[in-house]
Amino acid sequence: MSELVKNFALKPSGACQCGCGKEGTYRVKPWRSGILCVRSCTSCASCRGRRAKKGGQYDQQSKGARELASKRGKNHEEADRYAFRWQNKKGKISIPIHNVWEKVEQPDRRPLVVSVGWNIYPSRLILLRSDHLAESWKLLEHEEPFYPTEKLYVQPVFTAFSKVEKDDEAMRPIGDSRPFIARFALPQSRHYALLIFRHDQLEAMHYALGIENGYIK
Ligand SMILES: [Zn+2]
Ligand SMILES: [Zn+2]
Repeated sequence: MSELVKNFALKPSGACQCGCGKEGTYRVKPWRSGILCVRSCTSCASCRGRRAKKGGQYDQQSKGARELASKRGKNHEEADRYAFRWQNKKGKISIPIHNVWEKVEQPDRRPLVVSVGWNIYPSRLILLRSDHLAESWKLLEHEEPFYPTEKLYVQPVFTAFSKVEKDDEAMRPIGDSRPFIARFALPQSRHYALLIFRHDQLEAMHYALGIENGYIK
C-alpha cells in the first residue's frame, strides 16, 4: 500500500517540449499548441506570458490591495468592496508617470503630494507614492503642501490615467458613486508604485482611504 501511494506521488518529468533544453517536472496540462513544458520553463512565449500575468496578479491582489486598503484583494479590482474603486496597472503604461514623478521628487524623499493640471482634462490630478500613503494622507487635509507642477510635461500622466479611468467607468454599476484611484507600478519591481486620483474627488478619496486603512476611526 505504501509503495502504491509513493508511485502516485511521482510526477511525470522529462525534457521540456518547447526545445529550451530544460529538464524537470512537467506542467499539469500542455499549452493549446499541444506543447508540454516543464514547470521551470522560461523560454517559450506561452510560459513567459503566463509568468507576466501571474506577476501582475500578485502585484494587484497582494501588494496593491494591501497598500491601498490594508487587505488582500479579489481576483479583479472591480470586485473589491472598498470605499473607493480602483485599478492596478503594472507595466509600460506606468513609465511616463514615474518619469514625471522623478522630476518633482525632492532629494530628501520626504512624503510628497503632487498636483498636476492639463487644460483639456476637467480636473487636476493628485499623485502620491504608495509607500508613503499614511503620511501623504495627512497632507491631503491641507492643500498647501501640494506641489503644483504647471510647467512639467504632464500630458502622459493624463493620457495613462484617463485610459484606466475610462476602463473602470465602463464597469461601474449605475449608482456606484465611490471615488476612483489608479495604482501604477513599473514593469520591473520597485518598492513603491504611484497612486493617482482626481482633485475633484479629493474629499471623498481622503475619507475612503482613511476608513479603509484605519486612519479614521
Ligand atoms: Zn521550455
Ligand atoms: Zn515553455
